[in-house]
Amino acid sequence: MRALTIDAHGGLEQLRYRDDLAAPVLPAAGAVRVRLRAASLNRLDLWTVGGLPGVSITPPWILGADGMGVVAEVSADVAADPRGVRAGDRVMLNPGLSCRSCEYCLKGEHSLCVGFRLLGEHHPGTLAEEIVVPATNVRRVPPGVSDEVAAAFTLATLTAWRMCVTRAQVREGEDVLIWGIGGGVALAALQICKARGARVFVTSSSPDKLERARALGADELLDHSTMNVAREIRARTKRRGVDVVVDSIGEKTWEQSLGSLTRMGRLVTCGGTSGPALTMDVRKLFWYQWSILGSTMGNDAELDAIVAELAAGRLHPPIDSVHALADGRAAFERMESGKQFGKIVVRIADD
Ligand SMILES: [Zn+2]
Repeated sequence: MRALTIDAHGGLEQLRYRDDLAAPVLPAAGAVRVRLRAASLNRLDLWTVGGLPGVSITPPWILGADGMGVVAEVSADVAADPRGVRAGDRVMLNPGLSCRSCEYCLKGEHSLCVGFRLLGEHHPGTLAEEIVVPATNVRRVPPGVSDEVAAAFTLATLTAWRMCVTRAQVREGEDVLIWGIGGGVALAALQICKARGARVFVTSSSPDKLERARALGADELLDHSTMNVAREIRARTKRRGVDVVVDSIGEKTWEQSLGSLTRMGRLVTCGGTSGPALTMDVRKLFWYQWSILGSTMGNDAELDAIVAELAAGRLHPPIDSVHALADGRAAFERMESGKQFGKIVVRIADD
């Protein structure tokens, strides 16, 4: 089968399109084999190419976390389950793999699983013609949703949903600051916070991205390349600050994120693309009674919630560009450039 792979870590020169890989074999129980039609990229895929501490790959390693396709085959127990998917069903994949038996899984907190793994990072990924995943990791694509949108949806929307709804609990009338509008998580967070009735402040260094965010409902636009965001937030909120900050940038933004929070404010983070080392003044933390919230991916209940939002047309990931699998390197170059607004999609099958 065809796939986009790496044999070793490094830069994008390591990417290799191949057409000679063996298709994955369906296990006896609990799994589905999916013929993929489209995949989408996340920053995580760039980290995987570069190499992550503690994660080792077996060449040729298939990249990709997000994807959708058509079920080709299901294990016998899945076929016996009246609610299970069937061959021919159009499905989207949840990239998070959990053991289903540890303390956290049994509580329904699958992204806290002690054995939590991701497609494309610890398990062969979605940038291939076929994949085998646990049946618990697929959901039927709602009618009317395109392949591209279904492939672009899950990882970013699930991450943003858990951050904004479950962890920060954004409410009507609150002010929210979202860093780096244009990325998949930030755009999903914008849509989720607007749907919940918040006033949303977004930042970018690109005036074009800011204007496009306004068209998606952003209320206040901040160019973080020309201003101190914390100072500007104070100026635009009568010195009060915002209730919630959504930050996935880390080192570069941390101080201004804290400086933007009001009393009892919540800072929620799902990553640190600019670096992991943070400092803070504990006196401000307790005096202003802030909450610092970590968040990773989401659980099955949150996955079902976002698929329902997709079916209802309330969440809709903007698509930046669509690339052919054979030209997958162009998709990665687009991600590395940081110029994208929305999701970068890779088309795998056209039939
Ligand atoms: Zn578990």
